[in-house]
Amino acid sequence: MGKTTGFLEYTRHKTPWRAPENRITDFNEFSLPLDTSERREQGARCMDCGVPFCQSSYGCPVDNLIPEWNDLVYRGRDREAWLRLMKTNNFPEFTGRVCPAPCEGACVLGINQPAVTIKDNECWIIDRAYEEGWMVPLPPAFRTGKTVAIIGSGPAGLAAADQLNRCGHRVTVFERSDRIGGLLMYGIPNMKLDKALVQKRVSIMEEEGVEFRTSTDVGSDISADQLVKDFDAVLLATGSTRPRDLTVPGRELKGIHFAMDFLTANTKSLLDSAFSDGKRIDAKGKKVIVIGGGDTGNDCIGTSIRHGCASVVNFELLPMPPAERTVDMPWPTFPRTLKIDYGHGEAEAIFGKDPREYSILTKEFVGDGKGNLAGLRTIRVEWKKNDAGQFVMNELAGTEEYFEADLVFLALGFLGPEQGVPQALSLEFDGRSNIKADYGRFSTNREKIFAAGDARRGQSLVVWAINEGRLAAREIDRFLMGETPLR
Ligand SMILES: Cc1cc2nc3c(=O)[nH]c(=O)nc-3n(C[C@H](O)[C@H](O)[C@H](O)COP(=O)(O)OP(=O)(O)OC[C@H]3O[C@@H](n4cnc5c(N)ncnc54)[C@H](O)[C@@H]3O)c2cc1C
Ligand code: SF4
Repeated sequence: MGKTTGFLEYTRHKTPWRAPENRITDFNEFSLPLDTSERREQGARCMDCGVPFCQSSYGCPVDNLIPEWNDLVYRGRDREAWLRLMKTNNFPEFTGRVCPAPCEGACVLGINQPAVTIKDNECWIIDRAYEEGWMVPLPPAFRTGKTVAIIGSGPAGLAAADQLNRCGHRVTVFERSDRIGGLLMYGIPNMKLDKALVQKRVSIMEEEGVEFRTSTDVGSDISADQLVKDFDAVLLATGSTRPRDLTVPGRELKGIHFAMDFLTANTKSLLDSAFSDGKRIDAKGKKVIVIGGGDTGNDCIGTSIRHGCASVVNFELLPMPPAERTVDMPWPTFPRTLKIDYGHGEAEAIFGKDPREYSILTKEFVGDGKGNLAGLRTIRVEWKKNDAGQFVMNELAGTEEYFEADLVFLALGFLGPEQGVPQALSLEFDGRSNIKADYGRFSTNREKIFAAGDARRGQSLVVWAINEGRLAAREIDRFLMGETPLR
């Protein structure tokens, strides 16, 4: 432990964000760097706990060596901190920006003080590594002669590719999009994760020997069976891409889009032409309603505001979360408390109020008589436990409302992976229509075919995708070589 009194001397300082009025004028990252001396103080707040709950099963899914690198940051031994960080996490530049940080929810200091800024410390270490030129390609010293095909280039596919390439296997990643990264590229918007950073890392992996084949849809451009014939092992990391729909009257009206269509087109147009190609769903001057919360809903709010929308409202079916932990979510579980994410803060700054409406159900989309969306009819709901202890939703009579809207974005979550490729390979599905493969083994019902990430576990987080990609790589290496040094 660096400074035994650090947690008593220093208060928590998060990495600052640009002011909402300023950051909504562009799609550049909204977070600003914390200066070095402040960062060292934040590292010093770590108590190097005997039982570091930040690393427990409630904390970091990739088992980051958190107290070790917090201490090294405090001591100014930044290169060692970076080396420690890279032992467990292939992509701290991504998690350091987008992770909801379950480690901080589990931090022991968080019991009665604000938790250590673990996520910001992680981000600072890896950003420093890029600045210092430590992040250089390190191709493997030898090649095994084994080949692996990975379908999907999101964080699960990339983490597996990185690990397997280090073991000396020849890895080819097949991606149907024109750019590599999965939701890191075309889901999470640029202001949260700069796409130049994703590309920078992909370029390093290419120089290390990973082959990326973009614009290649497995199932149509090349058959999945062909990959099984041509490669020694195949990993499906195809994500959870089937969006949940809202099938109420009026769904066919013009102006109702899935969130991912909005977000993907926006980032593609930004990267292809700085928006000059006009190929985005433009929210400028529009009354926007985002149905569904979570990261996706918040990203739709932030993107609509950057377009210059006239208003934005966010519907949430569930009640407003509590401000503090309750008995249902004690430390060290993840605190499902009320959060003000960047989009919520921007809406409040621009329109004078938090955009979220809770306990509200959309009953109908209403048209303007010409096939365009004009508004939504809604009703408020309450959630009560039934005799079996399950929450049941009831509509509250007399709470009907009408909201005007020109654009609706559906951010209602995802129903699992597309079924085409797994079906073509005769793979089994689990009860939630994800590809069936046990956590820890990642092997499917067919020999040499593995599955990882959202395609296996359902819609989740970047850090879990990295965890699954790493562990699937371990199992693939064991399958190919009989033993593995990977952990
Ligand atoms: C809008 C949005 C915002 C999010 N924000 C956050 C956040 O802030 N923090 C966080 O931790 N998580 C966030 N998530 C969740 C996170 O992005 C995912 O859990 C994670 O990306 C899953 O990784 P994956 O590698 O399993 O799949 P994905 O990232 O979905 O990648 C799957 C890839 O497979 C490709 N693919 C699919 N089928 C084929 C095929 N037949 N042939 C070739 N390629 C194929 C797809 O094109 C895609 O590129 C967000 C999700 C969304 C939708
Ligand atoms: S739980 Fe918090 S204080 Fe304890 S070692 Fe982890 S980061 Fe440091």
